[in-house]
Amino acid sequence: MNHSEQKISCPMCHKPNTWNPENAFRPFCSDRCKLIDLGEWASETRKIPGTHVEFDVDSDVDSD
Ligand SMILES: [Zn+2]
Repeated sequence: MNHSEQKISCPMCHKPNTWNPENAFRPFCSDRCKLIDLGEWASETRKIPGTHVEFDVDSDVDSD
């Protein structure tokens, strides 16, 4: 058995976090931090004009 749980820290709030498949928000610790990051992404700072961007919010658990 391979427990590939890797210890990381949330890029947004730097809280200790674990990278595992059950964490749908990885590398973030929670949906809040992920949403904060998406919010920054959507702001003008990182926006790329003319590029279609899709955020997969719900399709992360499906691994068939
Ligand atoms: Zn966080």
